[in-house]
Amino acid sequence: MATYVWNPDATFRITDSVRGDIICIGRTFRRFHSRCAWDIREESPSNAAAVRNLLGVMGANPPTLVTDQQLERLARHCLCSYHQRQISQATSELRGHLAVAVQAYEQYNDVNRRYEALRGALLRLLGLQDGGQSDEELVLQIKCLIVLAGEFAPEAGDVRSLVILAEQFVLEAVDQSDEDLDVLV
Ligand SMILES: [Zn+2]
Repeated sequence: MATYVWNPDATFRITDSVRGDIICIGRTFRRFHSRCAWDIREESPSNAAAVRNLLGVMGANPPTLVTDQQLERLARHCLCSYHQRQISQATSELRGHLAVAVQAYEQYNDVNRRYEALRGALLRLLGLQDGGQSDEELVLQIKCLIVLAGEFAPEAGDVRSLVILAEQFVLEAVDQSDEDLDVLV
């Protein structure tokens, strides 16, 4: 399965999607607690650069590795000078967004674990070597076995019969190629 990728910028809603700027995440009481939306880069280019850097560092690892100190630092750099006193409130808001990302990451891990267990069980059951083949190749191998079972052993109702049939097929294929060699010699 593909490597897990998450986007801290989108998770924490740091960059305004329309303007493309990092905007202050402070809440303004005059506008029903909506985002202040002051352009951070305009006020402090160094804060905007620190935010980009921090988001890059966070995105290089799974969301479970983001620390509370990083969240607080992000909040501090993402607040305009007027809203600096909202650090604790903003950090807790970021923590809430992070929890959603962590949950999605854990769900991904669960699916991945189930997938790996199923693939391993299937390979063992069908007597196939795990040669690092892609899912498409594995599916093709399984489909071939199923087609064989359908054509030559329609009564084969379970996977165990499929395995026996596949083993027979492999043995016969080897015998066949030996005979071909005899003819050629
Ligand atoms: Zn602000």
